[in-house]
Amino acid sequence: AEIEPVGDYNTPDLWPDLPTRPDRQTHKHGRGRLAVLSGGPSATGAARLAAQAGLRAGSGLVTVLSPKNALLVNAQSLSEVMVRGFDGVEGFLAGLDGLRATAAVLGPGAGVGEGTRELVIAALSRSPALVLDADALTSFEGETDHLFSHLRPGDVLTPHAGEFARLFPDLAEAPINKIEAARTAAERAGCVVVFKGPDTVIAAPDGRVRVNTHATPALATAGTGDVLAGITGAFLAQGTDAFDAASAAVWLHGDAGLRAGEGLIAGDVIAALPNSFAALRRRRRT
Ligand code: AMP
Ligand code: MG
Repeated sequence: AEIEPVGDYNTPDLWPDLPTRPDRQTHKHGRGRLAVLSGGPSATGAARLAAQAGLRAGSGLVTVLSPKNALLVNAQSLSEVMVRGFDGVEGFLAGLDGLRATAAVLGPGAGVGEGTRELVIAALSRSPALVLDADALTSFEGETDHLFSHLRPGDVLTPHAGEFARLFPDLAEAPINKIEAARTAAERAGCVVVFKGPDTVIAAPDGRVRVNTHATPALATAGTGDVLAGITGAFLAQGTDAFDAASAAVWLHGDAGLRAGEGLIAGDVIAALPNSFAALRRRRRT
């Protein structure tokens, strides 16, 4: 769909809410606790990218909740991020509760199907704000009513065009622009929708929309969406309003991509985040 420049553009001056800069009194437990769901043994990298991005985005503690059969491969590949194993839906909920997570990212590498659907619905019965991305979205193709009836205004969906079309097939086909599609999707889902692409539209369930064009085609590479999910989760974990959290995450992700430049891989976007934070703080003077 064609993008028309209406509504707010996503510039740092426009978001009221952003995690505060750490100061002398700051303790890691006061900076949010983020949980990230890992996929099985052959699909763990996406969750690790999201988790590492979450740490870089300032969440004080980040834990990968891993199926027990993938625990070792996760543990061997992580240092600052913690790992905890679980079995089944009950085990997953016990893990979330035990971590006292303030937000969680579900979907990257999670696998498509019943198992992921159950974990998502279970997580929605708990307090952490959720970022649902990738397989957590695709798993609900044709069963979106079940998902939408459980989502809360503080949750965030981050579909790319293909995932958007699976969740909102009528909107993807309709003769409307991307802004209208995202706005209607957010109203229908009852949460924030980040409709990704060369231009990313961030829509709130109350009808507000922002558009981010501060990005680079170099971001069209594997794993960058997982990084965005992790940044968004980190801001939710720190208590930032979901619409502002998503707006700031999209801008920072685009800025980090611009800094990393052509040839970037997803890990480079994570590595560039500190410089993007510095740029953001300079622009906002906060
Ligand atoms: P995913 O498709 O889930 O891997 O996410 C890809 C990420 O890269 C999203 O944040 C997109 O907005 C961004 N991205 C992909 N292609 C482009 C592009 N051509 N220009 C700018 N950003 C892009
Ligand atoms: Mg993706």
